[in-house]
Parts: sequence; C-alpha cells; structure tokens
Amino acid sequence: MAFTLTVLGSNSAIPTIKRFASAHVLNIHERFFLIDCSEGTQIRLRTEGVKFMHLNHVFISHLHGDHFFGLFGLLSTFSLLGRKQALNIYADARLKPMLDAVLYMHEIAYEIVFNPLNFKEPQVILDSNTFSVTSFPLKHRLPCCGFLFKEKPKQVNIRKDAIVKYNLNVKEIVSIKNGSDLVLESGEIIPNSELTIPGQTPVSYAYCSDTQYLESIIPILKDVDLLYHEATFTAKDEKLAKSTGHSTAEQAAKIAKAANVGKLIIGHFSSRYKNNDGMEAEARKVFENTFAVKDGDKFVIGK
Ligand SMILES: [Zn+2]
Ligand SMILES: [Zn+2]
Repeated sequence: MAFTLTVLGSNSAIPTIKRFASAHVLNIHERFFLIDCSEGTQIRLRTEGVKFMHLNHVFISHLHGDHFFGLFGLLSTFSLLGRKQALNIYADARLKPMLDAVLYMHEIAYEIVFNPLNFKEPQVILDSNTFSVTSFPLKHRLPCCGFLFKEKPKQVNIRKDAIVKYNLNVKEIVSIKNGSDLVLESGEIIPNSELTIPGQTPVSYAYCSDTQYLESIIPILKDVDLLYHEATFTAKDEKLAKSTGHSTAEQAAKIAKAANVGKLIIGHFSSRYKNNDGMEAEARKVFENTFAVKDGDKFVIGK
C-alpha cells in the first residue's frame, strides 16, 4: 500500500486567501500523521476530508508561528468532538508549557503524550512494525528538525507454484519466508531465491522546513522517494535566504540531487513573488523532477 502525502499549506510566514502556511498530512496505510500545524490547519484537514480521529501523531518542526499556531485550536476541537484516544506530539520542549497554559481552561478529555525533540543529532522518535520516523536537526533561526518517514523492508512472498511443486508445509513456508533454502529428502538444495518473490520496495518521505542550505542532511536524505524541501526565496535573493535561515529553490534542488532523491517538492514560498513558476524552473535546472506545490496537491509514494 502507498504512502500518500497531502499538502495542506504551502506558504511561508503569512496565510493568504490562496495559500495557508506550513502543514502536511501523510497517510501511511490509513494512519494519518500531521507535520506542522499552521493557523487554519483544522479547516484544511476538513477540506481534504481527513478524519480527525484518525490523527494520532503531530510533528512540529519548530516554534515559528507559521508552523504551529493552528495546534491550539485543533487540540480544542478534538476535545469538543469527544476525542478519547491519546495524541502524540513531537516538538521543541518549550511548546509544553505553552500548551499547558493555553489548554488549562479547556478541560481536554484525552491524554497528550509530549515527546521533546532532539536538536543536536538524528533520533528515531517513532518505531512501528512497518515504518519508523526519524527527526534530524536543520539550521534555522530557532532550533528546528526535519522528519524522515521510512517504511521497513517488506518480507519476501513465497511463490505459489513452489508451494505446490514441493508440497511445502507451514513450517517450511515460515522458514523460507525468513530466508532459508529448502533441503529436499534427496539432499538437493533449492535456493531461497527460486522459492520467493521479493517484497515491495519500501518507500520514504522526508520533510525539511525551515532551513538554510545544509549539506549535513544529505546522508539522511539519501535515496528517499519524495523530499519536501523549503524554497522560500529564488537564487537572486540568496543572501537574504542565508541571513533569515532559509533556502533558495536552487539550493533545495542541489540537496535533492546530491541525495539522489526520487522527486523533489518545494514550498514555503515568500509572498514577495507573484507566482512560483520561477521557483520551479530554477530548481529544475539542477534537479529535473521538481514540483512547486500548491495547497491541496497530493503525492502518492510507492504503489
Ligand atoms: Zn516557516
Ligand atoms: Zn521558521
């Protein structure tokens, strides 16, 4: 099954009529993961038809308002809708007292499990049987993390014709699925590769916002299927990008190329530019498979 990413907001700093600020929602096998939560995110979730009760994990990259001001309203709405299941929040530890202060009057009826981020080194922050989430430090004006969502390698499938041909029992099937060869009564060895079909290739998605050009993240992003990298400015404003802790479209593409990613999507655009065609063209000169996102864009990763 696929990962599906929906861009809820693609602007930087200020929400506009056409563009909300940063928020993405990732569907991993019908489990939904919210990445950043700008003002108005709960409205965007409704517009995109995401069921609130399917959201159990929220990742906040950093504490600039365009990445988390929507969280308070969303948490309050969850409570008003009768939410009972716990909600996991992954964020800068300094968010915790803010949540406590704001939610103090709201009688939140569900547990909030707060997971402070590590801004010094990469860290696995969520690990399940089928995928993991790793946070990794970015370079911005405030402590900031990117997030890597990575599916785990899938088990091989056993060939149906092999089951019939060798009359395999359950114990033999389990053993072959775990990598063993088959030894026949005659002593002949049938190699595992003749008995199995490789599992589907695991897929991955990485979110990098906000950050200035940062080559240290390239190894973490190596070969990801889909990379979102902020591109607040165009190359002619590179100095401004550096001084404000942001990247240009060209720099995002350089990172994508060096990391050999499958597809690059760029966003977090400054509203100083009339449209983002220039951003996409600039990035494509370095990395062809680049798309400048709009709110509502969807990307299916894998099959
Ligand atoms: Zn931002
Ligand atoms: Zn920021």
